[in-house]
Amino acid sequence: MDTPSRSYVIIIGAGVSGISAAKVLAENGVEDVLILEASDRIGGRMRKEDFRGVPVELGAGWIVGVGGKESNPIWELAHQSGLRTCFSDYSHARYNIYDRSGKIFPRGVAADSYKRAVDSANQGLMIQQVGDLSKSNQPSSTLMTPIDLAIDFFLHDFEMAEAVPISTFTDLGEREFLVADERGYECLLYKMAQGFLFTPDGKILDSRLKLNKVVKEIVQNSRNGVTVTTEDGCIYEANYLIVSVSIGVLQSDLISFRPPLPRWKMEAVNMVDVKVYTKVFLKFPHKFWPCGPNKEFFIYAHERRGYYTFWQHMENAFPGSNILVVTLTNGESMRVEEQTDEETLREAMSVLRDMFGPDIPNATDILVPRWWNNRFQRGSYSNYPVNPNHQVIRNIKAPVGRIFFTGEHTSERFNGYVHGGYLAGIDTGKALLEEMRKGMMHCRKCDPPPPGSPHKCDIQSQLHLSGKLGVQDTIL
Ligand SMILES: Cc1cc2nc3c(=O)[nH]c(=O)nc-3n(C[C@H](O)[C@H](O)[C@H](O)COP(=O)(O)OP(=O)(O)OC[C@H]3O[C@@H](n4cnc5c(N)ncnc54)[C@H](O)[C@@H]3O)c2cc1C
Repeated sequence: MDTPSRSYVIIIGAGVSGISAAKVLAENGVEDVLILEASDRIGGRMRKEDFRGVPVELGAGWIVGVGGKESNPIWELAHQSGLRTCFSDYSHARYNIYDRSGKIFPRGVAADSYKRAVDSANQGLMIQQVGDLSKSNQPSSTLMTPIDLAIDFFLHDFEMAEAVPISTFTDLGEREFLVADERGYECLLYKMAQGFLFTPDGKILDSRLKLNKVVKEIVQNSRNGVTVTTEDGCIYEANYLIVSVSIGVLQSDLISFRPPLPRWKMEAVNMVDVKVYTKVFLKFPHKFWPCGPNKEFFIYAHERRGYYTFWQHMENAFPGSNILVVTLTNGESMRVEEQTDEETLREAMSVLRDMFGPDIPNATDILVPRWWNNRFQRGSYSNYPVNPNHQVIRNIKAPVGRIFFTGEHTSERFNGYVHGGYLAGIDTGKALLEEMRKGMMHCRKCDPPPPGSPHKCDIQSQLHLSGKLGVQDTIL
């Protein structure tokens, strides 16, 4: 068990937002930072897994929002790291829709249905804009046929997640690139960490990153700053804390705060919707699906909305991998998380046999991530209401005393995405630096603190110790 230790800043969570916050602090001379991560690796919802020799992304898989008027910082990082990606062209998916007897719907039928779904989405948006939220989340009654339901699912749950124009697409661009790199999407985080953590041979071996540390309690008091206790009984103290856990974790009881977080904070946190998004991976002995141009994505039309609807083959990303991925969301994700993988395999095979006939081979392996039941995640990403109350969003990220908050859910423009998490980490890091700067100005006028209590002037020694005296001027 670790002896109680004191750091200047503790960051809870080593996902993209926690790492980018730590990087900003380090770049500005604050290097006495401790990162406590609950799982046995960094990355959080950026998670590569080896699936029968193929690196698959269980969490974030795409760099979303490329080619627009603003550049996507994750796209830039990807370039710097030489990350291998493949352009995803979804425009043909609507012409690869199978009915339950394995016939592909004629293009005209699919085009009509697509138009109806877009009209319906716009209608839903108008209803939401005038405030009648009760009617907005369900497909309208005209969307009743399996193909309509399938396209509705594709539009809302897969392609955009929302019916509204969102900043990621309008500002960063509409292009999406699938990460297809042996090192995984997460290698961008290792690249970031290299700048401030000891990372020989690409491995992080730095005592400022502690894995398998599940924070269970955070106590804030005016004398000692913040005290953090982990499930293994270790106690860590700091002057400041950055909490980067997901919105689902904040809504759960994994971490208790003493004193409890104020009502305005918890009301805002509880207002955010958590979406569940699951990619089920299936490995086959050989391909039986079409692989030519414009066939990467295909859709299954079923009378139950979201029932094994959206499929992708991985031949473009990893030729010869013989892997299919089917995307489930929300209720279907939760249902599948509760059942055994064998049951999920049976269901998926039955759907594939509807589309491709009875003679196709059984999948030899299945991989079902469980983001909803993962107590360090409790869902896949945040989803703001269509007309968000800006005060609520400000409250989600507002600090409470010495506790600062970050994470994709705190990014007003880009919540739900990797770039949202990355930029949120930078924002929170800068906000904390600003707080320290204010503390310094205050300290120059005040008496020394009582013995043993932390003082904001500590930042000065932090900066001297780090040797970044030049930077000191910029933040103090
Ligand atoms: C299935 C799926 C698909 C997605 N697809 C895309 C996509 O294609 N493109 C895209 O841009 N985004 C996508 N996203 C969203 C993207 O992954 C997230 O927005 C982003 O990774 C969130 O980063 P974060 O730092 O905010 O949170 P996280 O990555 O969740 O980091 C928080 C960290 O806190 C840790 N933690 C939690 N509780 C504790 C505790 N008590 N003590 C210590 N540590 C704790 C967690 O283990 C985690 O490592 C997807 C997400 C999922 C799940």
